[in-house]
Amino acid sequence: MHYGLLGQKLSHSYSPQIHSAFGGYNYELMQVEPSDLEAFMLAADFSGINVTIPYKKAVLPYCNSLSPQAARLGAVNTIVKQPDGTLWGHNTDYFGFQKMVSISGLYVQNKKVLVLGSGGAGVTASTVLSDLGAEVIVISRNGENNYGNLHYHTDASVIVNATPVGMYPNNGTAPVSLSGFPKLEGVLDLIYNPSKTELLLQAEARNLIAVNGLYMLVAQAKESAEYFSGTKIADEKITNVYNSLKRQMENIILIGMPGCGKSTIGTLLAKATSRQFIDTDQLIIDRVGMPIPLFMEKYGLDKFRQVETEVIGDTCKKSGLVIASGGGCVTREKNYNLLRQNGSVIWIKRNIEHLPTEGRPLSQKNSLQDMYEARRPLYSCFADYSINNITTPEEAAKAILRALEGD
Ligand code: NAP
Repeated sequence: MHYGLLGQKLSHSYSPQIHSAFGGYNYELMQVEPSDLEAFMLAADFSGINVTIPYKKAVLPYCNSLSPQAARLGAVNTIVKQPDGTLWGHNTDYFGFQKMVSISGLYVQNKKVLVLGSGGAGVTASTVLSDLGAEVIVISRNGENNYGNLHYHTDASVIVNATPVGMYPNNGTAPVSLSGFPKLEGVLDLIYNPSKTELLLQAEARNLIAVNGLYMLVAQAKESAEYFSGTKIADEKITNVYNSLKRQMENIILIGMPGCGKSTIGTLLAKATSRQFIDTDQLIIDRVGMPIPLFMEKYGLDKFRQVETEVIGDTCKKSGLVIASGGGCVTREKNYNLLRQNGSVIWIKRNIEHLPTEGRPLSQKNSLQDMYEARRPLYSCFADYSINNITTPEEAAKAILRALEGD
């Protein structure tokens, strides 16, 4: 009995991990080039498979029968070999997106919902939303409703992003600006890497509901796992698997005054969570090829902050890291979204009299008290959590893990 995921490029897939949490079966990545698809499907050397980009439609002719959802969506993401050897095609993205809407708390009946993108995920989202009684408008680059006439739909209550715009590694881009939608209640983005796309960060800044596609990914896998294992799996299990995957994918980002313990605590956190530890100051030194005090002396503070922003942007879009940032990174507004896009930001607080100043040019030049007073509201604004580093770094690291566990 073997199962797996059929697709063209699968190196970043989380499916094996998700399926191992749901079922006790063997699950492999089955990377197949388009020219080999026919041979792969005719051999059908599997008990069941999931199907991803670009084959969700291409596998249709090889299925002997389809579920009503697969027939309706015109796409298959789950194939199960029947006892007589025939292939049954189903689409669990419908269930996955339904669950995503349900956990968002958004109520879509009789509301105008814009679905951005008319590809496979867009069709699934539109179908679920129509079934829930929403007035669905599909925004498509070349369609009747497109990005040039969005002003006809400023009364939208919900926006769903079913395009790849904003997905890793093209973080920081958004298909639309939310500024023209005064009645907007929330945004659902099917992307899950980064955890907060530019579109979701815009929604968060407006205090709107903002949900990414990770729950959908896990929920659709749960329904597939039920067909693969022949066993019903409780919906609560979706939340457990989702929480554990979310914790694993997201970065832990440490901010705080120079010398507050970010590197020591970060190293301990990395060890405790089996993550890589990254110190952005060290990356800056590697990038500019000289110590930071010398770089500041030669090129000035502004240039330093510019390089720091570049380093933060490159580092924070990766996943599963512990990242110690420079003490002054909060002084640049641009760093706010960059730091928060893929993880939780933790402010490490330490009494000023315990902060060292040696080798820290800004701490030596300015009164630490003045610097702290200026930065305190910024640390507070950037942080998801704050912890006090008053006893030992080990205790501070444990406090951070407790805060993240309770998330
Ligand atoms: P797809 O079939 O390739 O369709 C994507 C659609 O996005 C295209 O048809 C296009 O629609 C639009 N688009 C593409 N590039 C664009 C650009 N540069 N600017 C504006 N629009 C663009 O892909 P898909 O399978 O629907 O997936 C779409 C997204 O959903 C991906 O990010 C995927 O990872 C995500 N997804 C997530 C889950 C989950 O479980 N969370 C499941 C499925 C998909 P128009 O031609 O109409 O403009």
